[in-house]
Amino acid sequence: MTKAIHVGNVTIGGGAPVSVQSMCSTKTEDVEATVGQIKALAAAGCDLVRLAVPHGRAAQALRTIRDRSPVPLVADIHFDHRLAVAAAEAGMDKIRINPGNIGPEENVRRVAEACRSAGVPIRIGINGGSLEKPLLEKYGGPTPEAMLESALGHVRLLNKFGFDDICLSLKCSDVPATVAAYELAAEKLDYPLHIGITEAGGGEMAVVKAAAGIGALLLRGIGDTLRVSMTGDPLREPEVGIEILRALGLRRDAPEFIACPTCGRTEIDLEKLYIEVQEKLKGCRAPIRVAVMGCVVNGPGEAAAADYGVAGGKDCGLLFRKGQRLHTVPYEGLADALVSLLREDGVEVG
Ligand code: SF4
Repeated sequence: MTKAIHVGNVTIGGGAPVSVQSMCSTKTEDVEATVGQIKALAAAGCDLVRLAVPHGRAAQALRTIRDRSPVPLVADIHFDHRLAVAAAEAGMDKIRINPGNIGPEENVRRVAEACRSAGVPIRIGINGGSLEKPLLEKYGGPTPEAMLESALGHVRLLNKFGFDDICLSLKCSDVPATVAAYELAAEKLDYPLHIGITEAGGGEMAVVKAAAGIGALLLRGIGDTLRVSMTGDPLREPEVGIEILRALGLRRDAPEFIACPTCGRTEIDLEKLYIEVQEKLKGCRAPIRVAVMGCVVNGPGEAAAADYGVAGGKDCGLLFRKGQRLHTVPYEGLADALVSLLREDGVEVG
């Protein structure tokens, strides 16, 4: 098991539930816009939110933003150790910095001391796109081994100043390389791991890459907090992250839907029915399985295995509850009839 670190009221590692995070796309010094986006990300399911701190104006805004944030905040800093010290002093809950990129060791010592006295952990964020040149030369590119060696170097620097409150990430845009890098890190180190596929593009490609990479890692028991990276509105990121956790059974806070793809045997508008049922259960937080199936081939089996289900027939559907076949209902009333079953059983449908 990894060590635990505490980021405000969120525990990362040590067997704590895998937390979901994202990063604001606003200019940090624009306090209103940034606080607005943090609140929207928190409402979308982010357990913590990261902010870029590229200069002094951004650093100056941190205390006000921190005071107004409903979730712990992470300051993302590159190159300038003074910004990291300022962020720790401004009450930020975690700092992301690579200690090898902030100049002489004296700078690292200052950051380590500021973070220690404020009780702030540091994430060392290795990125395949910004690996040290000697490592790129030694390994011929941003290989998993190069990323691990970079991480170990940064860890050693912090350890040298007695700082051990560390979380690690080793991301690149290549899914197999990222998975391999995290596997190496998990073998060698017991620091909690922040996982994700970086620069994954936008839309479906990003979703698929995130699900493949993050899913592969979580199934191996690797990963303590995650970020899905998507070009565009960051609000999609926590949604996708949470769905990955749900698909892996690591978060059970909503219905899981089982629905068939439909085929030539379907004799009802299954997609419409599925959307209708999903819509009616949007606010439901019960960890139930609901099957919406097209016909009597796989339908009865899936519907009976779920907590609640419907198997389509000719313009109608057969209802199931906890494995029991109930009765047939005309197509138009199917969604309501299914939801009524949940209500009868005291399930809060939202
Ligand atoms: S459950 Fe029936 S309708 Fe759905 S894909 Fe399978 S065979 Fe086709």
